[in-house]
Amino acid sequence: MPDCLFCRMVAGEVPADVVHRTDRVLAFRDINPQAPTHVLVIPRDHHPTAAALATADPGLLAEVVTAANTVARQEGLVTDDGTQPGYRLVTNTGPGAGQSVDHLHFHLLGGRGLGWPPG
Ligand code: 5GP
Ligand code: ZN
Repeated sequence: MPDCLFCRMVAGEVPADVVHRTDRVLAFRDINPQAPTHVLVIPRDHHPTAAALATADPGLLAEVVTAANTVARQEGLVTDDGTQPGYRLVTNTGPGAGQSVDHLHFHLLGGRGLGWPPG
């Protein structure tokens, strides 16, 4: 995919602070974190949106969501001890919602109180 920042990160051409990887998913810290935990979780293959991936490869979409939960557990946001700090998983879709990179990415946010509704 020409000129895709996240494809270049998957290829190792742009450095990434990787926190979790599988054969089909990569998770790395956002360069401009909006919360103590702010990780981007992406499929290694290029798909522009969650809906596009759901059509092309629904199993991969499930792997991305599962990987996000694995990272949340690593970050202490999901626990077995009854305390559940929790996390937010969001994907901006389209420029009006703030999507600036045209490669599906879920923002995993946590580690502070998260207001609702979001801005
Ligand atoms: P979007 O605006 O598309 O929802 O999210 C794109 C995210 O990518 C932003 O939160 C932005 O901070 C992050 N980002 C942009 N460039 C880089 C980069 O070079 N490295 C990392 N780790 N994150 C980036
Ligand atoms: Zn891409």
